[in-house]
Amino acid sequence: MPRQDLEDIFQDIQKDARYDHELNGCLNCGICTATCPAAYYFDFSPREIVQLLWTENLEGIHDAMQEKIWACAQCYTCAARCPFGNSPGGLIMIMREAAIKHGMESAKNVLRPFSRVMLKLISTGNQLAPDMVTPDHFPDWGPNISKVDAPLDILRKAIPVPTLNTTETAWEVNLKTSIELYTIWEMTGVLDRLEGIDENLFDVITDIIDEKREDYEDWLEEQDEADDDEED
Ligand code: SF4
Ligand code: SF4
Repeated sequence: MPRQDLEDIFQDIQKDARYDHELNGCLNCGICTATCPAAYYFDFSPREIVQLLWTENLEGIHDAMQEKIWACAQCYTCAARCPFGNSPGGLIMIMREAAIKHGMESAKNVLRPFSRVMLKLISTGNQLAPDMVTPDHFPDWGPNISKVDAPLDILRKAIPVPTLNTTETAWEVNLKTSIELYTIWEMTGVLDRLEGIDENLFDVITDIIDEKREDYEDWLEEQDEADDDEED
């Protein structure tokens, strides 16, 4: 990778408003790694990530963004233990956001299984419906998911009646709120990030947003006409 690209990625991480708060120095003591549950199971060390950032090791930072940063469970045990008041988990979150911004393959691979969730969430402002929680929709759950499939069926039945067995939203988000959410996601760059990691999903979602905006304009016109009628 060209040096300039490595510098651009690091600058994006470093200029994040949270960066100076999350990184205050590093003793290389390893307390964060000793308390990290992800380090127990994976070839992953928050100490190593913090050291890469602290020493501004641009190649190492880029390498870590290809796989290791995605092992973090975002539990923040490390932040509670670090004698320097660092938050390795918070730094990793900033690195993940940079990986998404730069359209890295690692980000695409991690987020791909969640495309249906993102479609649901972004297009409706709502969460997963119970019948979307199936192995088919989450290939990253692996082959052993069939062992927990039956309990999931029971759990779905325990969810209140209006949300049972439906791909409809679990609750209704009104049109005005949806339009506000779309505007927020546009203005904060969320939709740009989505376009960078999944162009097809972005196209589907922008079509939905356009349709809902037209519906909202129609609804506003109807309200204006109703107000005019009342005045007459
Ligand atoms: S936030 Fe991430 S790095 Fe920190 S302890 Fe939890 S899993 Fe480990
Ligand atoms: S981030 Fe904190 S806990 Fe982890 S190695 Fe550095 S000083 Fe130690």
